[in-house]
Amino acid sequence: MTQQSFPSLRERAAALERAPRAGLMSIGGELAESAGGWIETINPATGACIGKVPAGTADDVEQAVLAAEAAQVRWADLSVAQRAQAMNAFADAIAAHADDLLLLEVADSGNSITGMRGDIKACVDRIRYFAGLGYELQGSTIPGESDKLNLTVREPYGVVGRIAAFNHPLAMVVNGLAAALMAGNTAVVKPSEQCPLSATLLGEIANKALPRGVVNIVTGGAAVGSAIVRHPRVKRLSFVGSARTGMAIQRSAAEVAVKSLSLELGGKNPFIVFPDADLDKLADAAIVGMNFIWQGQSCSSTSRLFVHDSVYDEVCERVARNAESLRVGDPFEESTQMGAIISADQRKRVEDYVSSAKAEGARLLTGGGRPEGAQFERGFWYTPTVFADVTPEMKIAREEIFGPVLSILRWREVDEVVKTANSLDYGLTGAVWTRDISQALRTARRLQTGYIWINGVATGARALPFGGYKNSGIGRERGIEELYSYTEEKSMQIFL
Ligand code: NAD
Repeated sequence: MTQQSFPSLRERAAALERAPRAGLMSIGGELAESAGGWIETINPATGACIGKVPAGTADDVEQAVLAAEAAQVRWADLSVAQRAQAMNAFADAIAAHADDLLLLEVADSGNSITGMRGDIKACVDRIRYFAGLGYELQGSTIPGESDKLNLTVREPYGVVGRIAAFNHPLAMVVNGLAAALMAGNTAVVKPSEQCPLSATLLGEIANKALPRGVVNIVTGGAAVGSAIVRHPRVKRLSFVGSARTGMAIQRSAAEVAVKSLSLELGGKNPFIVFPDADLDKLADAAIVGMNFIWQGQSCSSTSRLFVHDSVYDEVCERVARNAESLRVGDPFEESTQMGAIISADQRKRVEDYVSSAKAEGARLLTGGGRPEGAQFERGFWYTPTVFADVTPEMKIAREEIFGPVLSILRWREVDEVVKTANSLDYGLTGAVWTRDISQALRTARRLQTGYIWINGVATGARALPFGGYKNSGIGRERGIEELYSYTEEKSMQIFL
């Protein structure tokens, strides 16, 4: 028997440049184009067009909502076991298409293959986790007068709207589906227009694995998002993206109806290093926490590294050395540690922040420019960048860059560093590094953020809630509270 040779994912990505993929929307279980035309999508690593998706319209959203409504009653009427079985079948189908999804994820986002492989696995795990939680959709009985039985039941909202950010294309879509569907809702989802291809394949998978209309994918830009937000019968919205868009969504939704929203927004997260921290581990953690693996394009990046004066110079030197040694390159290469930035516009934003940092007197330790070499001539590349002597009033210390730029700030008094860490309107994650557990816990409790690592960074746990304080968001994802957040609680009184 002759051995069959399969093209590698890299070869398949190159083929997409010759024959771009036309991804379609999924509405009511059918693939659909749009009267709105098409949006091209670019491989950030090469700058070449690799696909197109429909530029959806308000009419497409209307059709998707109608399809989701038509599917919802029967979906919610399934027994918990039946719905869990369908969800697990959906997870199995995603796992069976893992390579096809991985190809689109890497080619469309510029993120490294190792990072994206982890995302796809996390999507599958997440669906299975919520499928397993179905029996927890419980109400309660509440004591009162002896001639009445008071109880609550949990009911789905109906149609849920999900609008996703670009940085983890598939995960940001699936994260809005898993709990919502298990709770008995159906969904209308808009992926980011910057990397929509994997979501179009997810739609194809859902059309086969789930009853038609349970998952509807409408591609497009802000107009599609806005039509979902303003649809009067989409009463539960879940959004992941920037704080600016999150606030616009709150305003816009409130003009048409009273809606329940969860918002997973940006961050400018503090990482506080005490003098007794384990500096060997810290030098790696500062790099991992900054999420250079996603080119810094991650909401949870610990982008403000506050280092105590007594260890400042040593930490700066070690962190800069580690950043400099990161392997930037082809996202399809297994050894790549940092890929390409999502777009030319986003790279320009990063370059502007770097210019502002220099102008304001920050000291560039490493990076600060585009990498050199033939492989970087096409696409949107930038070097891992670290600034020292950043002060709290500088622009790079206050604004979310969403790029590979780490700021190192100096501190002397605990009260002062906590105050500075808390001085921004963001409050997503934070890290505290010290061997003094009392100090660690005191500091962690004082930080106004929704998620804290102590002597660690950048990890998550399946059921540990994730979400932001202040302008970093509303609501929590991941645990049982997320499942409940997709239900309304109905109280009943039974007269005995
Ligand atoms: P973005 O806010 O620009 O866009 C997010 C989504 O909103 C896109 O699908 C976009 O088309 C849509 N949109 C834009 N305007 C809209 C409008 N007026 N109405 C409805 N929808 C609209 O964000 P982005 O650039 O895609 O993502 C980066 C941001 O996302 C960063 O701020 C990052 O921190 C944040 N983020 C947060 C989390 C989290 O869990 N907290 C996770 C990932 C990303």
